[in-house]
Amino acid sequence: MRYVSSRGLAPDLGFADVLLAGLANDGGLYMPATWPAMPDLTGLHDYADIAAAVMSPFVGDDLGDGALADLCREAYGTFRHPAVVPLVQIDERQWLLELFHGPTLAFKDVALQLVGRMFDRVLDQRGQRITIVGATSGDTGSAAIDGVKQCGNIDIVILYPSGRTSDVQRRQMTTVDSPNVHTVAVDGNFDDCQDLVKAMFGDAAFRDELQLSAVNSINWARVMAQIVYYVTASRTLAESPTFCVPTGNFGNVLSGWIAQRMGASIHDFIVASNSNDILTRFINDGDMSTRDVIPTLSPSMDIQVSSNFERLLFEMNGRDGGLTAEQLGRFRATGRLTLEADQRAEFIDGNFRAARFDDDRTLAEIRRVHAETGLLVDPHTATGIGAARELAGDQPVITLSTAHPAKFPDAVERATGVRPGLPPHLADLFERPERTHSLPNDLAEVQQFVRSVSRVRA
Ligand SMILES: *Cc1c(COP(=O)(O)O)cnc(C)c1O
Repeated sequence: MRYVSSRGLAPDLGFADVLLAGLANDGGLYMPATWPAMPDLTGLHDYADIAAAVMSPFVGDDLGDGALADLCREAYGTFRHPAVVPLVQIDERQWLLELFHGPTLAFKDVALQLVGRMFDRVLDQRGQRITIVGATSGDTGSAAIDGVKQCGNIDIVILYPSGRTSDVQRRQMTTVDSPNVHTVAVDGNFDDCQDLVKAMFGDAAFRDELQLSAVNSINWARVMAQIVYYVTASRTLAESPTFCVPTGNFGNVLSGWIAQRMGASIHDFIVASNSNDILTRFINDGDMSTRDVIPTLSPSMDIQVSSNFERLLFEMNGRDGGLTAEQLGRFRATGRLTLEADQRAEFIDGNFRAARFDDDRTLAEIRRVHAETGLLVDPHTATGIGAARELAGDQPVITLSTAHPAKFPDAVERATGVRPGLPPHLADLFERPERTHSLPNDLAEVQQFVRSVSRVRA
């Protein structure tokens, strides 16, 4: 499989190069040159086996013989449910697909447990090492750390805003006892952390010296790994389901769209947002215009510009990278994106619906689900369950449950009066020793720190 950039100017690459590159060098996102048909899955039941089969057309021989299947078995062996991503019925026509049984309790584990291992495999083949740097306000940092903590060719440094992550989120990062894992509490906010990371990538000499890399949500391999659970879940129901997806960067729902495109039996999609509702306004009213980010109870959806939307836009533009780059340039300049009527008719109408749930409605939904089913759900999942109920039609609806309730105990307790407990493998999280470094919001000091811990030698 070859991959092309959504902005049309970067060279075509194979899977392993796309994996390591992340972003294309024209600023675009990599997309497979063609959509493969769904492989024959007859007789496959194990999640790891299905995952290897679904991803094999995208990976080809790039990881070596049999390696994809081995890595899938290792990655999904870290999940604490025999079904990996169990489907739970909550109402006559409503299901939850629980994606939070991985090591850090959020759906990002499904992709990052595999992608970390793929990185290490390709680096092994090439005799290379890299340094991953990233900024986090919570979920992504812990999932990235857990995904690479056993990787011999990778050092990872994650910056987080000192005092501004939840205790659970911080401890999930700082208690990982692995020599290649380093966390930094920056004296600043999340934007400061992100600016420091951007500045490190912008410093070409530093980037090359330390072989800097990222595992952010624009990496194709993350989108690819998420296709699998749409395939397994839709196979379980007798009728084509609607999937309802709590959405931030549009990566998760894009993976569903690709599964549908490959032939999975999927009726349509509901995009759920919180008060940061740019996608809901776009789908319902054709208005894609940016506003300021509002902090909510579902912080992983507090996003205004959904980076993975560019991949769908490229498709809507008939895979014309020049047109896509031009349209995004106008969007950046004016804060507004407009689509042609025929693009909407072909790609949005009839296939995407959307609803918005602010914090009050989210809390009410957590309370209602608990009262009716006894289940505790996290605030991200609750926006999805609410949207699914609001827009449900004749089809069965599967809402993606993207985080374990214990990751957001304050909101869940506020809604229900019950404080969700951590699952057994994390029950002693608050007794484990923390290991972190405090640094000022200063690029030179942060770079000095990264240089001191990285084992990459230029
Ligand atoms: C990252 C995340 C989301 C949003 O997923 P996208 O792929 O960015 O749309 C939703 N819920 C939780 C808990 C997350 O961690």
